[in-house]
Order: sequence, then structure tokens, then C-alpha cells
Amino acid sequence: MLVTDHRATDLALPAVSSRDADEPFLLVMDVDSTFIDQEVVELLAEHAGTRARVAEITERAMRGEIDFAESLHERVATLAGLPVRVLDDVVAAATYTTGARELVAECHRRGWTVGLVSGGFAEIVEPLAAELGITWTRANRLEVVDGRLTGRVDGEVVDRTVKATTLREYAARAEVPLVRTIAVGDGANDLEMIAEAGIGIAFCAKPVVRDAAPWHVDDRDLREVLRVVDEAVAARA
Ligand SMILES: [Mg+2]
Repeated sequence: MLVTDHRATDLALPAVSSRDADEPFLLVMDVDSTFIDQEVVELLAEHAGTRARVAEITERAMRGEIDFAESLHERVATLAGLPVRVLDDVVAAATYTTGARELVAECHRRGWTVGLVSGGFAEIVEPLAAELGITWTRANRLEVVDGRLTGRVDGEVVDRTVKATTLREYAARAEVPLVRTIAVGDGANDLEMIAEAGIGIAFCAKPVVRDAAPWHVDDRDLREVLRVVDEAVAARA
């Protein structure tokens, strides 16, 4: 593909410069439909027999048409009564997006930090992250009582604001300035972290996200993220 295809032409370039090229970056990725191919809440809903309804709500939330937290509560409510073992089935059913393994391995080889932040669920995100050596994750937690999902989430919902906050927290912890952060996501709840990152990338994203992001990848291959970083650095050289 054309490398020049990644940049939005009508937006200011991020301030990352060639001097940054040899310094470590922080990569923060969304999970559902970004790091993995699926929307986990839909995989869970499959077990509850509510997939069609949940998928419709997810689609509207990711297009930014409805409030994320509200839509999450509505979707999770349909999962009430599911036995916790379905979480293992869902982890097994999730597939890494093409290039995810290679991207994470290359970031680690370069000494970069990789973190995930998800409006999905920690019970699924954590094992998928751990397999690729990613230890920094943040996601919602499903409440469980007597071995069954209650249909509620525990604690603060990871919405677009929390995602952006998490990017800043990871950056502080990694001691990486925001200019050397990369945020990758596909949905409306990724908009704030994409705007805040030094290199914000819309990945096979909803139009509202693709239009707003300074960079975009439209091939479903996460290795393209490294190309965007090289291009962003070169553009400021
Ligand atoms: Mg997503």
C-alpha cells in the first residue's frame, strides 16, 4: 500500500520529530475490533442469546450515536445469569488482529512500552494481553456472584475520558512524554486518546473516528502502525 495514504491532509502534523526517533515510545491500543478482531460483548451475548440486539447497540455506540457508559450497562444487563466459564470460551474464541503479535514483539524489541485500554472486559483482555507479554491493561470488570454474571459491571466504566486519562497515566509511568505516545483505536470512545496522543491512529475505524484522527490505517494489519510512526517522525525531520 502507499505509505502516503496514512496521513490526514487537512490536520496539523503531530509534533513528534526526528530527534524522537531513537527514544522509546509508548503504544496504547484499544482492544475490541483493534487488538482483536471481535467485539467481546458480542461474543458473550452469543452465549446469552442476545447477540443481535447487543451488536446493534455496540454499532451505535462505536459510531458515537449513544452514550458509551449507558450503552455498556444496557448490553451487560443482557448477560445476567451467564456462568463465569463462558469467559474462558470467549477468550478462546477471540482472535488477534493480523499483525498484532508482530507489532507487539517489535515494540518490545525496541524497548517501547505497550499497554491496552478497553471499554470491554478485564476478564478477557488480561489473558489475551499476557500471552503477548503485555502487562499494562485497563478494562471494565464484570460483577460475578455465585459463579454467574450479575449483568452489572464493577467500578468506574472505562469510557472515552477514562481511556484518555489512562494514556496519560501510562505515559507518566513509562516516563515517556505525550509527544512519543501512539494511540490506536477504531471506535468513538477512542477519540479522546487519539486526539491526545503524539501519534493518534484510527485503525479500520468508524467514519467519525477516521475523519477526526490525524493518522489512519485502513488495511486490517497492525504492522502498519509502525509505518505510520516512521512516517510521522519523517514528516517532522
Ligand atoms: Mg474498539
